[in-house]
Amino acid sequence: MAKKEKYSYLRTARYGRKIRLLFNKAKKQQTQKYECPRCGKKKVKRESFAIWKCNSCNSVFAGGAYRFSTPEGQTVFRLLSSLKKNV
Ligand SMILES: [Zn+2]
Repeated sequence: MAKKEKYSYLRTARYGRKIRLLFNKAKKQQTQKYECPRCGKKKVKRESFAIWKCNSCNSVFAGGAYRFSTPEGQTVFRLLSSLKKNV
């Protein structure tokens, strides 16, 4: 028997095992809570597509579509902060 997967994928991801695994991974990252860069509490939840909101200090962040920070986003952030230092 197939291993039972935690999230329901039937409505969105079908046809193939790999796509279901990818969907589960994205869903897990999407529903997980993240640490807020402003107040440091683990209260950041996904509000909408790439919009993340902290339930503690009400700050809103733009992040990745399915997770709070992406490797690409971190690269851009590092680049921007180094540029700010030079000005
Ligand atoms: Zn916060």
